[in-house]
Amino acid sequence: MSYQALARKWRPKNFAEVVGQVHVVKALSNALDQQRLHHAYLFTGTRGIGKTTLARIFAKCLNCEKGASANPCGVCSACQEIDEGRYIDLIEVDAASRTKVEDTRELLDNVQYSPTRGHFKVYLIDEVHMLSGHSFNALLKTLEEPPLHVKFLLATTDPQKLPMTVLSRCLQFNLKKLPEDAVVQQLESIMLAEDVAFERPALYSIARVADGSMRDALSLLDQAIAYSKENVTDSAMHEMLGTVPREYMQKLVQALIDENAAEIMRCSHELAQLSADFGSLLDDLIDILHQAAISQAVPDAESRLGSDVELANKLGKQLSAEDVQLFYQIALLGRRDLYLYTSQQSALEMTLLRMLAFRPASREQTGQEGSVVRNKVISRDAQDSRESAPGDVQDSRESAPASKIDDLVKNGRWPELIDQLGIQGSAHSLASSCSVQSASGEGVVLNLAEQHEGIAIPNARRKLQEALQAYFNQNVKLEIKLTNQDIDTPAKKKTRAMEERQSLVEKQVEEDEVVKAFRSSFGAEVVAGSVKPIGE
Ligand SMILES: [Zn+2]
Repeated sequence: MSYQALARKWRPKNFAEVVGQVHVVKALSNALDQQRLHHAYLFTGTRGIGKTTLARIFAKCLNCEKGASANPCGVCSACQEIDEGRYIDLIEVDAASRTKVEDTRELLDNVQYSPTRGHFKVYLIDEVHMLSGHSFNALLKTLEEPPLHVKFLLATTDPQKLPMTVLSRCLQFNLKKLPEDAVVQQLESIMLAEDVAFERPALYSIARVADGSMRDALSLLDQAIAYSKENVTDSAMHEMLGTVPREYMQKLVQALIDENAAEIMRCSHELAQLSADFGSLLDDLIDILHQAAISQAVPDAESRLGSDVELANKLGKQLSAEDVQLFYQIALLGRRDLYLYTSQQSALEMTLLRMLAFRPASREQTGQEGSVVRNKVISRDAQDSRESAPGDVQDSRESAPASKIDDLVKNGRWPELIDQLGIQGSAHSLASSCSVQSASGEGVVLNLAEQHEGIAIPNARRKLQEALQAYFNQNVKLEIKLTNQDIDTPAKKKTRAMEERQSLVEKQVEEDEVVKAFRSSFGAEVVAGSVKPIGE
């Protein structure tokens, strides 16, 4: 017996079977039930989220032999033929392959004739944005004065490319990406119906990679069943998807709880051996910390269905709420800056070690008040520890001397300090455009290029000074001197880093074997300005 792909086998046949997209289903159902039908509908949204599926169901609702309604019978010949993709009055067109004006004219020539069998002649045009300008004009004429028996169902991933004249004649429905939990629930019910053994976390791994697309999720599920030989386990999914095995996440979470830097380094090396994707690992960690924060704030929240709930609960119980928030913030920054690091592995290591370094000392050791002060001391020491071997990190967190301004601003640590001040807007622009001329126990003298004088507005100065005072917990004199010298500022440093990243990725694309092969075989060229680092 031939195998039918799950995406095809489980394609919804009526509105009740559609997962998610409640807003669209409701609007279409009401329109059908109240017989208030428009002549052109546009379904927009990313790939694989059900645009053409909804359009086909709508076509069935219109042409069911029992009469147009939101609940087609599913058994009449019209319903069945639409399901089988061979109904004569449902004309499906893939605009990507029929972009020319002749194609559109040929298609629309027959619009005037009545439907052969059904109540309506339904034109379903997928990827409609691919039509040429002339084709749109041809289509527009029909949209302006459509015969009563014609309905247009247009679908596109890219509505911005449609002319306003076409957009304004359509009722538009924007389909949303499906939430992870909705995808998992559907996968679970399919696995039960197909009678295939599985581990629930494996379904979450698939849903995460599918990123809101049910079609992608079902294709991955097909692969998963073939790959796992009838028992879809979480570890098999990590192998198949190239994601990080859950046991490593458990080890890393435990290492954070135990403040075990050595274990973090061990895991990091092993993950590098497995060619793990450190970006997705940080994504997962951010997700777990989010869940941990919810578990602390709302322990019995019902909506928490994530795959790592147990891990998140454990983290939530063993860390304070402040620690969870701190770790979350550090993980977010680590993820944001992932590509500024020399390697993704070092990005992960620094992010996790920073969590340990900045974690306030435990309440038993210092008492509630002491921990706050200690936090700042540790913050400064954490800076120092960055240049030490990772194993030294924990030792460097003892008996630090009182905070001194000059410790931090000298030795090129001004950019890191800016990140920690929590300043934004004008104060952040000002700080980033300055370099440190000198610093003492009492204050800082900053240099600012003359041409940037305009950003040293009083409000920005005041906010920067206040932030420095709060950080060092003392009065801080802030002096800003204008200079005509060329100074190296954090802003310039950031620009340089971005330029280096850009030239690195351009070089990687240049040297890529596949790109080279396309060049030599097809005369392909890389479009200037089209190469961007991931995440931009
Ligand atoms: Zn029917």
